[in-house]
Amino acid sequence: MGKIEMEVLVNRQREFFLTGETLDYKFRKRQLSKMKNMLEKYEEDLYHALKNDLNKSEYEAFTTELGFLHTEINFALKHLKDWMQPKKVETPVTHKGSKSFIRKEPYGVTLIIAPWNYPLHLAIAPAIGAIAAGNTVVLKPSEFTQSTSAILADMIRNTFDESYFTVVEGAKDISQQLLEQRWDYIFFTGSTKVGRIIMEKASQYLTPVTLELGGKSPAIVDQDAKIDLAAKRIVWGKFTNAGQTCVAPDYVYVHEKVKPKLIKAMKKHIKAFYGKNPLQNKDYVRIVGKEHFDRLNAFMTDGDTVHGGHVNRETLAIEPTILDATTWNDAIMQEEIFGPLLPVMTFSSLHDVMSAMKHTEKPLALYYFGENEKKQQQVMTNVSFGGGCINDTLYHLATPHLPFGGVGNSGMGAYHGKYSFDTFSHRKSILKQTTKFDIPFRYPGGKLAKSVVERLMK
Ligand code: NAD
Repeated sequence: MGKIEMEVLVNRQREFFLTGETLDYKFRKRQLSKMKNMLEKYEEDLYHALKNDLNKSEYEAFTTELGFLHTEINFALKHLKDWMQPKKVETPVTHKGSKSFIRKEPYGVTLIIAPWNYPLHLAIAPAIGAIAAGNTVVLKPSEFTQSTSAILADMIRNTFDESYFTVVEGAKDISQQLLEQRWDYIFFTGSTKVGRIIMEKASQYLTPVTLELGGKSPAIVDQDAKIDLAAKRIVWGKFTNAGQTCVAPDYVYVHEKVKPKLIKAMKKHIKAFYGKNPLQNKDYVRIVGKEHFDRLNAFMTDGDTVHGGHVNRETLAIEPTILDATTWNDAIMQEEIFGPLLPVMTFSSLHDVMSAMKHTEKPLALYYFGENEKKQQQVMTNVSFGGGCINDTLYHLATPHLPFGGVGNSGMGAYHGKYSFDTFSHRKSILKQTTKFDIPFRYPGGKLAKSVVERLMK
């Protein structure tokens, strides 16, 4: 798609938006139902595409992609009417006679840019919020997951009018051209590096943005943690999608006294989940591309391999791998890993861990494993991160009741459930004044007015 065609597309969406059709509750509800039916109709094709792109099993594709989307759509359908109602708020005594409301209005024409790691989920989940809030959508999927990108384009073209919701496929160059257009909102999921570019581009039209980025999310395992359960939940969180999850535990920080026990338990759970030879497991997710594979493979020497370590460049598979005795100086600790390699580092004082965390970039997630409530609260209070869990991994992402997003280098803004609707809505404040009387104090006047106003406002 060329520059002119993009301009035409955005103009058409803006014209449609300006007709006011999307302001209607019934219209939005219909679109969400259409989206739900679309996902059901194309379910088999989607499984096929996800298998093709990343070797995802149907089970993993359903639990981490399709199932999540159904939950989000159902939640939006259930609550949309309420979310759309203007909310009455209090009015101070200085405004006697008036009423105050907050109305949620759509921004207009939105651009959603998605990554490849959950190519369906991360493309459609923001679109649910955009549509629920009454916007139009242009979606740009990742070029690294071509099959899913093609199905997204196809099913959305067959379900929605282009002037309302459409897909523009392509790589970085297309993304850059799209960013030259005037958008009313940009929702980006991807790397911190590209997030910076998005924000810079958005600034030319002062377009508001949500940036869902990444980072190095630690799993801290304290001395009093239930080690076997911690190991199981860390292994699940890390190796789901072969570690290509934005909120995967990037590395483990374990109390030195329980490290041997934790490593032993993690090995056991890796075997239980993926078998003795994960490279032969037909359902084990592969690395998205050769470049990504080579980057990860180069990290293999950053620690002692105590589990895994085998790779197959032909099938792009990397075994779930545990690296012991990794240090902050190793290359693997300088960037987000985003693959099935799990470095383990030790600590003797939780205080030191918190200090170290305060001097690293704010991660998207943090997981603390330990039974002592006071220590749990200490970590939650003293360390800044997007969101996380106490005694679990990833699960905070899968509830529509919690806003999901980063802070600092891991992003800005949040979504899921009502937070998605809020993200794609402008809060318009309205004060409705009475005409039955007119309190004189605010107008320039005598001494009495000044003293009354002062008393009321202090
Ligand atoms: P990426 O930033 O390379 O690409 C994301 C999207 O941006 C793609 O659609 C791509 O085509 C486009 N893009 C790439 N370079 C661009 C440029 N220079 N200008 C404009 N657009 C450009 O990210 P990725 O490799 O697809 O995904 C992995 C990253 O995404 C990781 O850092 C991960 O942590 C992060 N992520 C975050 C979340 C979250 O919810 N916070 C979820 C998944 C992934």
